Amino acid sequence: MNSIIDEIQDSLRFYKQLGCPGFDCSKDAIEIINNWEKRPALHGETLESIKKDVEKCRCCRLFQSRRNMVFGEGDPRARLMFVGEAPGPEEDDQGKPFVGPAGQLLTKIINAMHLTRTRVYLCNILKCLQPLNQNPEPDEISICYPFLKRQIRVIKPEFICALGTVAAQTLLKTKKPVSSLRGRFHDFHGIRLMPTYHPDYLLQNEDKKRAVWEDMKKLMQALERQRGNRL
Ligand code: SF4
Repeated sequence: MNSIIDEIQDSLRFYKQLGCPGFDCSKDAIEIINNWEKRPALHGETLESIKKDVEKCRCCRLFQSRRNMVFGEGDPRARLMFVGEAPGPEEDDQGKPFVGPAGQLLTKIINAMHLTRTRVYLCNILKCLQPLNQNPEPDEISICYPFLKRQIRVIKPEFICALGTVAAQTLLKTKKPVSSLRGRFHDFHGIRLMPTYHPDYLLQNEDKKRAVWEDMKKLMQALERQRGNRL
């Protein structure tokens, strides 16, 4: 029940930013709330329709400094989503996630898992560049996070890999650092979530690569065990 209330609060905050006063009590709205845990796509929502909303978004200060919004890319029916923190300068230039040095390292990790970027889905909590590459502000996260939740509802992944402390803390609603969360699966609304270190952190801390690979091996084993007809 708490997670439903959290979802509603996040969404109301977001819709308020867009000028919407709140939910009505129509049959459709009640159905959405009742089925929230099953992650339904809202009224036939697609990644394209969410992307259009992100393109128009002026809800936080970051729209002023972005050159391109970075929505996400990959398989719209991916079994595995990688969620990072925010686009960096290279991502902002190209409008694509994980294309800078950290992204290149992540691509190598994905390939080592016998996957490709086109078979998973890559995105971030924030869709716009942090100009000074600082940690995102809490208000920026809470305003932008509903876009990610909408992406997750449409894609319906079986697994999420949260890259770094900001992604792990946001998705798991915790203050614990990623170092104490990684190495095991957590529950995110019925989706198995594995936190691990961000590839940017790995570029500065090579000794953590082994830990990340241990986490990825657990993901690979779980993907194999739960293999359905989506990969
Ligand atoms: S970071 Fe998110 S909330 Fe802020 S302007 Fe960009 S898309 Fe909108």
